[in-house]
Amino acid sequence: MRDMMTFPFCQDRRPAFIPRRWALALALSMAGLGLVAPLDEAMARPAPKGKAVTAKGKAKPAASRAADPRPAMVLAPAPTLHHASGDLQVAATLRDRAQKSTLAWELLEQLTTEIGPRPAGSPNDARAREWAVQQLRRLGFPEVRQEAMPIRAWRRGPASVQVLGAFAQPLVATALGHSVGTPAGGIKAQVVRFASLAEMTRAEPSLLRGKIVFIDMPMARSRSGEGYGEVSQVRSKAAMEAGSRGALAVVIRSVGTDHDRLPHTGTMREDAAGPHIPALALSVPDAEQLTRLLKREPGLQLQLDVSTETNVAAESANVVAELPGKDPSKGWVTIGAHLDSWDLGTGAIDDGAGVAIVMSAAAQIQAHLKATGTQPERGIRVVLFANEENGFEGARHYEQLHGNEPHQLIAESDFGAGKVYQVASRIGDAAQPLMPSLVQVLAPLGVAWGDRDAWSGPDAAFLMNRRQWPTVELRQEGGDYFDWHHTANDTLDKVDAKALAQNVAAWSVMTWLAAQSPVSYARDAQPAGAAVTGAPAPAAAAASGAATLPSGSELPAGASGAAAHTPSQSGSQSSSQASAAEPHAGQPLASRHAAAAATHPVTHPVTHQAAHQPARHVSAKGKSAAHARGKASVSKAVAKGHASRRR
Ligand SMILES: [Zn+2]
Repeated sequence: MRDMMTFPFCQDRRPAFIPRRWALALALSMAGLGLVAPLDEAMARPAPKGKAVTAKGKAKPAASRAADPRPAMVLAPAPTLHHASGDLQVAATLRDRAQKSTLAWELLEQLTTEIGPRPAGSPNDARAREWAVQQLRRLGFPEVRQEAMPIRAWRRGPASVQVLGAFAQPLVATALGHSVGTPAGGIKAQVVRFASLAEMTRAEPSLLRGKIVFIDMPMARSRSGEGYGEVSQVRSKAAMEAGSRGALAVVIRSVGTDHDRLPHTGTMREDAAGPHIPALALSVPDAEQLTRLLKREPGLQLQLDVSTETNVAAESANVVAELPGKDPSKGWVTIGAHLDSWDLGTGAIDDGAGVAIVMSAAAQIQAHLKATGTQPERGIRVVLFANEENGFEGARHYEQLHGNEPHQLIAESDFGAGKVYQVASRIGDAAQPLMPSLVQVLAPLGVAWGDRDAWSGPDAAFLMNRRQWPTVELRQEGGDYFDWHHTANDTLDKVDAKALAQNVAAWSVMTWLAAQSPVSYARDAQPAGAAVTGAPAPAAAAASGAATLPSGSELPAGASGAAAHTPSQSGSQSSSQASAAEPHAGQPLASRHAAAAATHPVTHPVTHQAAHQPARHVSAKGKSAAHARGKASVSKAVAKGHASRRR
């Protein structure tokens, strides 16, 4: 989809003629003159270590400075803009009720226990949708429906990886989403190891030809999950890159931060032109085992036997629930999560938690409306997206049906149930002065202001890029998320009920105040003639629609508790933008989110009709008729390369 590659890199720019440090100096003098409203003490925290700009006016590194986002004139806030005090009181009540409510836990417990794994297009996917519809009706939403779409499903069969020769032994592995199977008799070949995707793509193709490529790139643990952005590229591109260089198959070290003997699955990108080769993830201990074995026997061979079904014509749907607003022209406040999960676990952290959080947050608001006989200013819409994990049809279908409706906000919860510690925005300058009062209501939850570089879960990120819709991000503790993500260990016991309720409280407040806002959150258009700084979006991110990579939040390393700086009404003082040379630099949250969005293969909508039959792969080279049919529907074009997100 070439049109996806034309997104502007960023909509929010300071005119090039106003250097960042002048803008900051202006802000500081205005604060001194009392032109900037005093901020609540809870928000007035010192800038964390490593912040790009200090109060002394120390400049950021050039790459960051170049990307300063905002016109200097907006440093003067509109001092009179605030939420109605009644709305703030309701927000505080919603917050307190949500913290005491067990609704989210009950929903998550039901979804993960009664339905469990729900890969898109499976019978459990349909059962999950029926469950969601039933629960949303029970919770009193006046409008609940499914918005159906055709999808291209994928089914996992058995996979085995055997070390041959003197050190013969089995390794633990699982297939990656959309992987083809091995031909009858499997694949037996020598292994060639690379420490990164870049190392592989630089290698002489003759080194890869006829081999099993092994990419052994570890993922670093971090609070924000920022390591995912880069390492998930191995998963998403290894098969495509290795296949085009003549490799027979690819095995990767799992994209995860654990040392459990459980592989992490995940989707991957495909090149319609092929060739399509089997792709598997080894558990982290097995990847380390293989590396040690290769030191002992550099010519080591593996036997791979993998069975999958690809391009299975199936149907799924977004589940949508609405609380109508007083004025439809003011746009929707859309909060979402994805209902599908991988097949290995029960989809508790990914993304049952998000489903429970947004359903419960909206239900809290619905209960308030019912009790008071009122309507929100703007409609509130809950969307449980279809097939976020392995196709992305849900987000695309939402755009098809609702892309032309005004949106006050879109946000997606898709990072487990770790506590929310920070709030960030990506809204217009006109609405930014409302953020301090949002932070005030969130402060008792341990949530502090972040910056204006908010991002969101993959479906929402895709839509934000496509439609320039605003968002407010509730950043969560995610240091352990990638221990379990996409594994058999993604189960209910990984969720803390209190942290889940804290998420619901934060989402209730954020959603309610967005719906009641006295002004639109609409993002500002890029000023005419403003220099576009920063890097062009990585092509693959563009392909998925996740092209506009915001800069990272620059969280203090190892910080705990609420971070970090004040919700400047004047714009982001902490923002930085990746340089062209380093598409991931300084983009923790953004990277995580965009990576998730970007790894989703993008299919041409028309080609869905091309795949009618389950294709049982019997040929690694994709010679079966079924495979040939499948090829037509496999990722159309779409750019090579990519970057960032989520989740
Ligand atoms: Zn997810």
